[in-house]
Amino acid sequence: MQLIYLDNAASSWPKPPEVAQAVARTIEQCGANPGRGSHGMAVAASRILFEARTNLARLMGVNNPNDIAFCFNTTDALNLAIRGYVRPGDHVICTKVEHNAVWRPLEYLKRHHRVEVSYVEANERGELSLAELDQAFRPNTRLLICSHSSNLLGSILPIEKMAQIAHNHGAKILVDAAQTLGVYPVHVKDMQLDMVAFPGHKGLLGPQGTGGLYIHPDIELEPLRLGGTGSRSEEAEQPNIRPDRYEAGTLNTPGIAGLNEGVKYVQNETVESIHTKEWTLTQRMMEAFASMTGVRVLGPGLGEPRTGIVSIVLDAMDAAEAAFVLDQHFQIAVRAGYHCSPLAHQTAGTLGAGAVRISVGCFTTEQEIDACIEAVGQLSRT
Ligand code: PMP
Repeated sequence: MQLIYLDNAASSWPKPPEVAQAVARTIEQCGANPGRGSHGMAVAASRILFEARTNLARLMGVNNPNDIAFCFNTTDALNLAIRGYVRPGDHVICTKVEHNAVWRPLEYLKRHHRVEVSYVEANERGELSLAELDQAFRPNTRLLICSHSSNLLGSILPIEKMAQIAHNHGAKILVDAAQTLGVYPVHVKDMQLDMVAFPGHKGLLGPQGTGGLYIHPDIELEPLRLGGTGSRSEEAEQPNIRPDRYEAGTLNTPGIAGLNEGVKYVQNETVESIHTKEWTLTQRMMEAFASMTGVRVLGPGLGEPRTGIVSIVLDAMDAAEAAFVLDQHFQIAVRAGYHCSPLAHQTAGTLGAGAVRISVGCFTTEQEIDACIEAVGQLSRT
């Protein structure tokens, strides 16, 4: 039996074949260090970064590709944004569906650096009240952080409206696009976003160890890593030029070459058609689960907007056991537990029990979904 991979919210798989080919080609033919020499191979390596940055900028509606800094994953990008922007005495607002990649850096700043943090509640479906959000701002609020989509509930937050509210209060918005870039529209210019953290290894179909942060040109961040950039090497100060300021040390050039192919694949398919395909598959699952007894789907209801995530709770079986049985007996890979999002589980009322997260990708087929429905049906009857 072939593996049915439904854990795309953690890392997407499979990837378009061009992704692995580009990684291998870069290692085999272009192993020089980008930006660190003037010989032909070093220039070719720099060109790989340039092309990937340019394609990412086009996908995200960013004017200047140099406003995107490559990072090693979303967590790295969020740490750069949060720790580079927030100062002692600041107030930061985030939501009650944030991932630990936001929660932990904020709680660290709260404990060690006199930063105040407010958490805006969301309901069980992952929706929050914009009026409540508006009221949470204080004179010293400098940053609003929100997941574009909850990695547990699949709900989509109205980041355009949230950006407007933050700007009305003179604050900036940082969007965690871990679950949306590549599978749901994210347009920096149209949505007036100040910073966007994203992974390369999920919706963009690139390899693990890739990701990035869009930083609005008006925003000055303290760099997280200091060191060599291949530019202004005689100066002790980290160069104040983008993207070098935020990219000290050698980048993952083979990974970024693969990421570039993933981005090109997404651009070719279009984000909208990928989203429609994924949404249709989630609805097929949700309709089937609604007709089963003892299966509860978390997050938005049938017919409502969501990303490719359907998290379920079974009356008959513990989440960890269900994921184990799905893997061992049905060759279906899903993720159980807290999904690094205890805040979202608290919001959903599943802290303690956890949930089984089924997440589709752009290569998931109807047959795979039907096999998953059949397997969950059997578990619900045990
Ligand atoms: N934020 C959200 C909403 C996520 O779903 C994830 C991945 N589970 C992350 C942040 C962290 O992403 P990464 O693994 O790329 O650091």
